[in-house]
Amino acid sequence: MSGGRAERVEARLAEAEVDLLLVTDLTNVRYLTGFTGSNGLVVTGPGVRRFVTDFRYVEQAGQQVAGFEVERAPQEFLTALERGWPGGVVRLGFEDHKVTVRQHARLRELLPERVELVAAGGLVERERAIKDAAEVAAIRAAAELADEALGDVLDAGLVGRTEREIALELEQAMRRRGAEPAFPSIVAAAAHGALPHARPTDDPVPADTLVTIDWGARLDGYCSDCTRTVATGEPGEELRAIYDLVLRAQLAALDAVRPGPEGREVDAVARELIAAAGHGDHFGHGLGHGVGLEVHEAPRLSVTGEDALEAGNVVTVEPGVYVPATGGVRIEDLVVVSEGGRDVLSGRSKDLLTVG
Ligand code: ZN
Ligand code: ZN
Repeated sequence: MSGGRAERVEARLAEAEVDLLLVTDLTNVRYLTGFTGSNGLVVTGPGVRRFVTDFRYVEQAGQQVAGFEVERAPQEFLTALERGWPGGVVRLGFEDHKVTVRQHARLRELLPERVELVAAGGLVERERAIKDAAEVAAIRAAAELADEALGDVLDAGLVGRTEREIALELEQAMRRRGAEPAFPSIVAAAAHGALPHARPTDDPVPADTLVTIDWGARLDGYCSDCTRTVATGEPGEELRAIYDLVLRAQLAALDAVRPGPEGREVDAVARELIAAAGHGDHFGHGLGHGVGLEVHEAPRLSVTGEDALEAGNVVTVEPGVYVPATGGVRIEDLVVVSEGGRDVLSGRSKDLLTVG
């Protein structure tokens, strides 16, 4: 399925000063080969395209894996790496951000001495950060499905239902449409909204407050991620002012998304606006993150994000203000960076919506 991906990763091997790359992270294996099973590894580089799995997955791999030679190994499939190396000294990159200390020790036992293990984590992730057209289409479809699912839930009203009921219904609405939740949905009303990663409680949602809903669908492996904050009546002046501030910051940051700026520069657009309004201490997380096969991936839009945005990145833009004991607002869109700027994949309006 993935013609070109292994070639593009191969082109990055020189920057890590390795001859071959061992890929054990299953999301990265899927990205390179199309394989969706739970036991598989890849060795890739010039003239080498090995895909190793155990007998449970040989048939599945035959259907899914293209461009790699499928090898059947015992269930401890790392043992396949005892053999099959080109001659001479081989510098083998491995995913040091994913491989455990125990796996590393086992690899060292199994590999011939002339195969040197070199930390090279993140090479596939850097390639994954730039989506091709099919990936963008998959993410767009997931985002549309998630939007529809939220529509169902809001139509049924929020007041008097517990956060947990609402979250469950949202997840069911996504499943009914053929997706699964990309992550546990957040439904946080009133003071709970002050917790950026609140877990839904058994408290009923009151009238006349704000409710933050952060949800996403996973469809064909690809995730969406979106947040809307809605009102259940008249939330009062303070929360309204916070909503207007977050929306202004979100729109300004969205406008700064284009190829070129580093993640931290886009983050700063929202952060400075929020700080100028006196809420700097109430925005304690990054502005956004890449989304793809995983809901959090490269690039990061945060105070430390140094990756320059590129066309094909899919990122969230999600400033928030969280006032302890009072409440919070987060507004999150999913956007694809295009040559000319950006294309917003989240379809729901950001005007403050009132739901009974
Ligand atoms: Zn989110
Ligand atoms: Zn997010």
